[in-house]
Amino acid sequence: MTSPQETSSILPTYVRAPVAFVRGEGAWLEASDGARFLDFGAGIAVAVLGHSHPHLVESLIEQGQKLWHVSNLYKIPTAERLAKRLTDATFADYVFFTNSGAEACEGAIKTARKYQFVSGHPERVEIITFDGAFHGRTIATIAAGGNDKYIEGFGAPVEGFHRKTPFGDIEAVKAAINERTAAIMVEPIQGEGGVRTAPASFFRALRDLCDQHGLLLVFDEVQSGVGRTGKFFAYEHLGITPDIMAVAKGIGGGFPLGAFLATKEAAKGMVAGTHGSTYGGNPLGTAIGNAVLDLVLAVGFLDKVAKTGLALKQRLAELKDKHPHVIEGIRGEGLLIGLKIADRIPCGELAAAVRDQHMLVIPAGENVIRMLPPLIIGDVEVNAAFARLDAACSAIEAKFPLGNGARA
Ligand SMILES: *Cc1c(COP(=O)(O)O)cnc(C)c1O
Repeated sequence: MTSPQETSSILPTYVRAPVAFVRGEGAWLEASDGARFLDFGAGIAVAVLGHSHPHLVESLIEQGQKLWHVSNLYKIPTAERLAKRLTDATFADYVFFTNSGAEACEGAIKTARKYQFVSGHPERVEIITFDGAFHGRTIATIAAGGNDKYIEGFGAPVEGFHRKTPFGDIEAVKAAINERTAAIMVEPIQGEGGVRTAPASFFRALRDLCDQHGLLLVFDEVQSGVGRTGKFFAYEHLGITPDIMAVAKGIGGGFPLGAFLATKEAAKGMVAGTHGSTYGGNPLGTAIGNAVLDLVLAVGFLDKVAKTGLALKQRLAELKDKHPHVIEGIRGEGLLIGLKIADRIPCGELAAAVRDQHMLVIPAGENVIRMLPPLIIGDVEVNAAFARLDAACSAIEAKFPLGNGARA
């Protein structure tokens, strides 16, 4: 018997769960067989307003009937408006729109290097990055990331990255700085790495180091941004601002849209002709980005995300007390939450057990189960999540009994 996966014409770079979704509403997805799933993955932190949000659907249809694409050879009013709203609400003075997170990171890297170049330091090209970091899957962003498996077999890694600096270790960062250093690039909370956090003091020390040495601080907020942590961007928790920031995932609410943002000073090398994108900032994508901001920046929205995040964490603490040999810790901020799973249980096994309970969560590094629900969830979803996770943990306890080690 052949599985659908074996007959698929899609390049098999993903191991896919045997389920196909055909419809979504809010935090719920409907599978092709009619089963309803509670979606605590949101398409990997993308569907911040849930699925089929009426305001997004309306914006898609309205702009879709007017104009989709013209290219950046012309002024694009929807992009101008979105950029203005982003700069008004952040540290930044300029925005460049992309179609994905990796492109946003690439643009951030280019901007940092060009800044040093036009500042009379053409030798400063190296970007300090961290262990557990994830910045995308392009040739340059894999060289920036912390995962050797993503690099292997794709030729010599792109030069100019000081990789795998210990995350949270300021002395290691100091030791990594040399006369070729251009910037430090960091996720305020590592998503793929396992919802790893570092104290605010670490990020403030990074800011100080950058200021002392004439380096740029680049934040990758592709996963942590657009309300995910209960602030518009996660840097707002830290009492500092970056010079450059990569954004994607939530900003399009499901439409492929990304951006990098920069201060006027950090962007000073990015003059006409230095960067481009055919699709970037197209009328359709940026109309939807504006619709996302209509809701995320509405009064009270982010406060509710923070409140819901606390309520979820409280229920998860209860879950941990109930299943202490499955869940060893709870991490994260707002609605970017990780459950550290006991080492004898591969987190993919637990994710599958959760899926058996008709709920979606996402495995991450350090044997962590990641929860990134739509930001519009409330008590109903939090309680439904608790019940499903509770049942999944019980099933996993039966499958991985204590003392016997992991079953083959
Ligand atoms: C997802 C992600 C990226 C890459 O985004 P793509 O849209 O997949 O290219 C980069 N950085 C971080 C922190 C991410 O979570």
